[in-house]
Amino acid sequence: SLALVWFRHDLRLDDQPALRAALEAGHTPVPVYIHAPEEEGAWAPGAASDAWRHRSLQALQQELEQRGSALHVCTGPTDGALDRLLRRSGAQAVFWNRKYEPATQARDAALKRRLRESGVEVESFNGTLMFEPWDMATQSGGPYKVFTPFWKNAQANLRLPAPWTAPVRLPEPPTLDGHVSIDALGLQPRPRWDESFWEHWQPGEAGAHEALEIFIDGALNGYSEDRDRPDRIGTSRLSPHLHFGEIAVWRVVHALQQACTAANARHVDAYVRELGWREFAYHLLHHFPQTPNENLNPRFEHFNWARVDDAALRAWQQGRTGVPIVDAGLRELWATGYMHNRVRMIVASYLCKHLRYHWLEGARWFWDTLVDADLANNTLGWQWTAGTGADASPYFRVFNPVTQAQRFDPKAEYIARWVPELQALPVKERFAPWLSPELAQRLAPDYPRQPLVDLAEGREAALAAYAASKD
Ligand code: FAD
Repeated sequence: SLALVWFRHDLRLDDQPALRAALEAGHTPVPVYIHAPEEEGAWAPGAASDAWRHRSLQALQQELEQRGSALHVCTGPTDGALDRLLRRSGAQAVFWNRKYEPATQARDAALKRRLRESGVEVESFNGTLMFEPWDMATQSGGPYKVFTPFWKNAQANLRLPAPWTAPVRLPEPPTLDGHVSIDALGLQPRPRWDESFWEHWQPGEAGAHEALEIFIDGALNGYSEDRDRPDRIGTSRLSPHLHFGEIAVWRVVHALQQACTAANARHVDAYVRELGWREFAYHLLHHFPQTPNENLNPRFEHFNWARVDDAALRAWQQGRTGVPIVDAGLRELWATGYMHNRVRMIVASYLCKHLRYHWLEGARWFWDTLVDADLANNTLGWQWTAGTGADASPYFRVFNPVTQAQRFDPKAEYIARWVPELQALPVKERFAPWLSPELAQRLAPDYPRQPLVDLAEGREAALAAYAASKD
């Protein structure tokens, strides 16, 4: 018998619960991928995500072919595509791993109902998370809005599946009509602004495993301190791999536990806690599905965001704000599809507070340009930084981008790497070049003379808007 294994955000073979279940039930898995971005609504994948997916699908296809199987790729709408695939293959079953974005979840629930009613066996699995978002509840039975108690409860109940390695030979699926080549899906950006990404990344399952190994042998052993340092390789850079499901989160935790020693135990804990933020983000998205578009905290319903001035937003997007750490982050993003977490917080705070743009403007830009753009994590990150979300940093805590940079990029190396116009300046002057106008004019003539807004004035205006939002 045959079973469709519908790949979505689980572009891997190891630790693939849907694939595993199909094999264990004695089915021949028919791996399929259905391209239907419009079904993801307002948050259909952005351009950088598409560029990653293109490569990740190619890697998956290759992996499957090496094992004697194949990936059947077709286009949506999903409803009709699944019907056609079932008819053409003669399969009686569809297996998939769950997704949690509200639009997709609603679509999948309807599909499941309809297919089951027509006699098809449908099974869905958790391929993405340590916990299902609905598994965790406060003592009164509601969702968590604060991370620490959420994580305490989660840790006390942590039971992860053992790693599973896919067989080296898979049964050969039938060849089906209607196959579309991955190249024809239109996932590659036009023009090819993603070309500079790929020296930094290897999309696909093999790349994910390699990134994990590199992290365990290196940065893990200083993670608690170095994770905040954009000038160092202090983090795992697993986020796009986790987002596309190229590696299972429980495989990561398992590998860290195996590598855990008395010397690095606190780093392992700190890292698993960050993975806990990812779980928390999915928990929030599930229970508050409006939050990708709306403030979680109703106080911000009538907040006086600054009037939208396209020029300032464009300067932020292009890394031309005149604040070096902010510009460095946005240029890192443009060149690599990634930005360091500390810098994400700094640029987001600057946009929402000093420039007083609605956080959605920033969330949208990240959505289009991050290779790890993830609806749960991005929504949490922006609402947290803007102060409008659950367990948020309060709005009145305005990051000072200059002191942040001095603290976390003390030699201004990260700044110099991404903002080369500032390289000739002495380290001390690279943080706030407008304070040394003569030197800046001579040694960094191509960099903006003044920041978009005076940092003190921007901060005051933000605090005034916050005070006014009380009534
Ligand atoms: P590591 O430090 O190695 O962390 C390991 C993993 O833990 C990450 O891969 C990620 O899956 C998870 N993680 C770490 N920090 C967080 C966090 N704060 N929230 C949720 N999960 C976390 N992360 C995304 O994956 N996609 C996004 O779209 C995204 N948007 C963000 C927007 C803003 C404004 C902010 C402040 C943060 C955002 N983050 C997002 C969270 C975080 O910045 C990235 O997960 C992290 O930088 C990825 O690098 P890493 O894999 O080397 O992290």
